[in-house]
Amino acid sequence: MTDTAGAFLDQCRAIVGAPHVLELDTDKAAFLTDQRARHTGRALAVLRPATTAQVAALVRACARSRVPIVPQGGNTGLVLGSVPDTGGRAVLLSLARLNAVRQVDPVNRTMIVDAGCILHDVQQAAAAHGCLFPLSLAAEGSCTIGGNLATNAGGTAVLRYGNTRELCMGLEVVTPQGEIWNGLRGLRKDNTGYDLRDLYIGAEGTLGVITGAVLKLYPQPKAAITALAAMPSPAHALRLLSLMQDYCGASLTGFELMSRYCLQLVAQQFPQLPQPFAPPPPQSVLLELSSSESEQHAVGLLERAIGAALDGGVIDDAVVATSIAQSTGLWQLREHIPLAQARAGKNIKHDIALPVSRIADFIAATGPRLEAAFPGCQLVCFGHVGDGNLHYNVAPPAGVPHEQFLHRQDEVNRVVYDSVEAFGGSISAEHGIGALKRDALVRHKSAVELDLMRTIKAALDPLGIMNPGKIL
Ligand code: ZN
Repeated sequence: MTDTAGAFLDQCRAIVGAPHVLELDTDKAAFLTDQRARHTGRALAVLRPATTAQVAALVRACARSRVPIVPQGGNTGLVLGSVPDTGGRAVLLSLARLNAVRQVDPVNRTMIVDAGCILHDVQQAAAAHGCLFPLSLAAEGSCTIGGNLATNAGGTAVLRYGNTRELCMGLEVVTPQGEIWNGLRGLRKDNTGYDLRDLYIGAEGTLGVITGAVLKLYPQPKAAITALAAMPSPAHALRLLSLMQDYCGASLTGFELMSRYCLQLVAQQFPQLPQPFAPPPPQSVLLELSSSESEQHAVGLLERAIGAALDGGVIDDAVVATSIAQSTGLWQLREHIPLAQARAGKNIKHDIALPVSRIADFIAATGPRLEAAFPGCQLVCFGHVGDGNLHYNVAPPAGVPHEQFLHRQDEVNRVVYDSVEAFGGSISAEHGIGALKRDALVRHKSAVELDLMRTIKAALDPLGIMNPGKIL
């Protein structure tokens, strides 16, 4: 280690205390590899501040010594956004110790939380006050709200409640200069100039460090009811979506499409999970309805809508969960798709967005393009169709080693993303850009848009120390 690095780490120890400056490889390891184990970076140290003031002091020290900073929450990201590169010059700034719920205001329907709060703990704290914090996703047991904000996470309730962006009313941010911006305002209306909050949300830690947030709370629904519907094609699924929205309005809280191959994969890897339709139909949709009135009300709405869908030839069959256990079982089918994929081997993941009305045409057009380029490849296509968001993952043909197929990732991405662009979509609906999709971003954003983004980055972080190499 150089003298300057030593002096810098002395300053860090003075700020957070020696036990919270991790330098040993064994201590740092868990922070430096992404959760899919695709990349292991290096860092000068892992810094573990416990307060916003400590974060600010650390960032000032980094700015003085020009040390790059990689902020990290639960390290559950999928695009290498929260791990450093292999240069070893950066520090990893873990927000995990900033984990207090600062305030819950049931009348304003807001809560103020530290960035390092685990999402599940945030949900629980809201529930303890009779409220709902609706953000929900597979990693909720270990992801942090700061990471959710930095990546504008989506999840399973976007249809009704929006992305994390829509669930945040204010932020506290440490700027790249180490100043604290206290924007923790619990206001539903605030028209006072540029919206800095929305600039930091989704910036993946490239413009500053989110240290706290005001979150929006909702009344807890009185009942939720789940059903699984079977249909011959994605076009039928879109017709079902329209019908459900006509019949159920805002009560429709979940609409998840699953192709036959997805449910076959789940059946292979998790044969203990009961599947209502065997063999799986060409397409299935998991529906969830919430009611602020009663379970009876929700069941009534759902039965009317499903009856109309059956009568109109929109769906072939449907089962309605009549117990919490059955409802959990249906959700488990959906949640086990990524797990089943992971067990089956590595694949090339895409989390794309499309105008809802074009999803069926996209699926119909893109499959044959991939088949032509990579004969026998398997498509794992599922997702939040109500939000226009597909998880469109490509697995190797039978017999082709997964590692070998991963080498063709750029070619696969190109086919998928070119098709996404042709249908007016976006290359990332949920996971973000991180380090993994930077090249694709350059290919698919206009020069004007990229210029604006680079101008903002240069204005806010002129030293370029905030999460370098991510997004841009
Ligand atoms: Zn998703």
